[in-house]
Amino acid sequence: MSFGVYIHFPYCLSKCPYCDFASVAEGPEHDRYARAIACELELRAEAFRGRTARSLYVGGGTPSLWAPEAVASAVAAIRRHVSFAPRQETETTLEANPGASDAARFAELRAAGFDRISIGVQSFDDAVLARLGREHSGREAVAAFEAARHAGFDNVALDLIHGCPGQDLATARSDAATAAGLGPEHLSCYALTLEHLAVDVPMARAAREGRVAVPDEDQQWEMSQAISATLSEAGYRRYEISNWCRPGLEARHNRLYWTGGEYLGLGCGACGFALADPAEPWKGGRRWGNHRAPARYFADVEAGRLPEAWSEELDAPTLLRELLAIGLRQVQGVDLGEACARLRMDPAPFLDAAQGLHARGLALLSGAHVRLTERGLDVHTTAVLPFV
Ligand code: SF4
Repeated sequence: MSFGVYIHFPYCLSKCPYCDFASVAEGPEHDRYARAIACELELRAEAFRGRTARSLYVGGGTPSLWAPEAVASAVAAIRRHVSFAPRQETETTLEANPGASDAARFAELRAAGFDRISIGVQSFDDAVLARLGREHSGREAVAAFEAARHAGFDNVALDLIHGCPGQDLATARSDAATAAGLGPEHLSCYALTLEHLAVDVPMARAAREGRVAVPDEDQQWEMSQAISATLSEAGYRRYEISNWCRPGLEARHNRLYWTGGEYLGLGCGACGFALADPAEPWKGGRRWGNHRAPARYFADVEAGRLPEAWSEELDAPTLLRELLAIGLRQVQGVDLGEACARLRMDPAPFLDAAQGLHARGLALLSGAHVRLTERGLDVHTTAVLPFV
């Protein structure tokens, strides 16, 4: 069973109007936050005893704002409490935003053990970036990528968004071409989502009230097709609905989410998942989420309490449904036989459902291995309904 560690850093330079992440536009408390992560780790380490981590991911928020020495002290605390695979088998990623990235900072992060940088470019078009409320320009996004290379990072990921207000097909295609032209190892290209967000997310409210126009579903689909074609022509392989990479450079940490792995989440708004017993996964597990507001998080952790806002127990049927829904986002699909055996579930109803999808041209079946076709991936949310 795969296992990794996630640290959430909640501070940003400003709050983007479409953002529903646990993030705040206030000054980072660099050292205090690193100490809080170490305290939370002590409270949680026992639940992950005996696991070996193969990924460490610092996400946010804007983790590249975190003073490198504070990041290094949080990472050192984690390495003291958690067993990691050898360095060459471990992926250690930090998310960065253009505008909070420079070669000196990246060099310090590299010295602290990070071997992968994921840069939140979103777009290279300044008009699109302005409408998204981003603080950086397209030129600064290119500079951030070059700074990462200059600091010695040979594994760099770029994130793009499409379906933004005022964005057209040509801009989406040119963003993908510019990103590919830089030659990153990995690209994530997500559609802007304004549905099912908290009611106070400004851009979501503006869209509901008709004050901002975003491309409709068909236009978003055309953009995603154009992006996919552009990246494929540039030699990238789509391995998940929204992710492309050079051969062998899939995001290891993200993959553990798509394959039902365990993760130790630390920090404001972080989520974690631990099986009751990794040797007997059919016994189920527990997932939790931390408080999103820094003040609430600090208050609990500094008083020696788990900073949990919620938690849920997950039984084997629930774990299997989740694994199928999320796992089928991957182009490689899911081995139903293996998943059902692991969770001691009868594969028959799931194989029936997979055959139904196959008959509709949405899935391919090879023995008990199911994967969605291109058409199935395009309608993933409805395609996986028979499994959930
Ligand atoms: S930089 Fe990212 S996390 Fe921060 S407010 Fe913007 S979208 Fe949210």
